[in-house]
Amino acid sequence: MRQHVDLLITHAQQLCTIPPHAGGPQRGHALGDLGLIEDGALAIQDGLVRAVGPTDSIIAAYSGEDVIDASGRLVTPGLVDPHTHLVWAGDRAEEFERRIKGVTYQQIMAEGGGINRTVQATRQASLDELVTSGLQRLDLALQHGTTTVEIKTGYGLSTAEEIKMLSAIALLDAEHPIRIIPTFLGAHAVPPEFAGRSDAYVDLIIKEMLPAAAAWKAEHWPGVMFCDVFCEEGAFTLEQTRRILEAALQAGLKLKIHVDEFVALGGTRLGVELGVTSLDHLDVTPDEEIALLGASQTVAVALPTTPFGLGSSHYPPVHKLLDAGAILALATDCNPGPAWTENLQFVLALATRYHRLTQAQALVACTLNAAWALALGNQVGSLEPGRAADVIIWRTGDYRELGYHFGINLVEQVIIAGRPVYTTPD
Ligand SMILES: [Zn+2]
Repeated sequence: MRQHVDLLITHAQQLCTIPPHAGGPQRGHALGDLGLIEDGALAIQDGLVRAVGPTDSIIAAYSGEDVIDASGRLVTPGLVDPHTHLVWAGDRAEEFERRIKGVTYQQIMAEGGGINRTVQATRQASLDELVTSGLQRLDLALQHGTTTVEIKTGYGLSTAEEIKMLSAIALLDAEHPIRIIPTFLGAHAVPPEFAGRSDAYVDLIIKEMLPAAAAWKAEHWPGVMFCDVFCEEGAFTLEQTRRILEAALQAGLKLKIHVDEFVALGGTRLGVELGVTSLDHLDVTPDEEIALLGASQTVAVALPTTPFGLGSSHYPPVHKLLDAGAILALATDCNPGPAWTENLQFVLALATRYHRLTQAQALVACTLNAAWALALGNQVGSLEPGRAADVIIWRTGDYRELGYHFGINLVEQVIIAGRPVYTTPD
């Protein structure tokens, strides 16, 4: 007697389960284990993967209420984007045009542009406006295969405006099928009204903004939520970063840090010491701190869209991270400055070329390991039984086409929690 399940996906030319290693992420040079099954099938029940294996054995044991024939197709877990700034108002097209003509990002910042320009526009926007534009960006992410996305605040930079951003993120989660993880990033930049008084702004974060964010979480967000800090020259010092993160930990938030993007301030050492979930950017991390990170449980998140977006040739030393045994993940860094893309397939294209990751390594860094960067490694990012049935059916039968065939959308169908939520029109 065959068991009846909600959905069967059968006859995938290649099915990549992306298996956990020892129940966790794929670490160091073990990165790239796809768990590839030829002529593979999935049985899905109650939004979870019930069973996975060769089609013959799955259809011998299960019948499906619905059946999707994935002949000639690649099937993988949904992509996980663990670092975005996807909620904002306004745009910076004019700044981009000036940068093309040779004005540097630092000059634009000094004139009050850059992040603070987006802060100004976001403060002026209504909650509705933030939700409307956020939904459009989430649609693009979904259409390109993203099924889980982290979204940071950090364009409000006052208690009321940061809470407005958290409210927008919660509304997006309620209205859109993508799984969302919120991050409080009150320490994204020192707002103009605190220019030259960054310690006073850090006091405000610790005494007022973080408690407000924690109270918001208690009332509105039962799931995982993070606190992040931009630890960088011109943003927040190492000591300020430590003060904010220690307070966030007390408030019940998990931790992340933007570290070593332009100048290494010791943020990686601090992050490992505090046991943060992820350290992101890592463009200029010193070797001794790479070694500390490689020996830790903290996920290293590389953001190749940022150097690409700045037209820089300096990409993070991803192979040094792998040599050190680090857990590597990739993300879009989707933001209105140097890295406006919702598309993780484009990140795969950059990572294969500029990080020299194989297609298999890049795919695991955008699924299982990215899920660990959000403390969700036991729930998404892999098609092992018991995990969420977040699945992509691709318009190719070969995983090696990911990153190789770029600038177009290879997604055919997106399934979240066992429910088809998007099909690319023919
Ligand atoms: Zn960022």
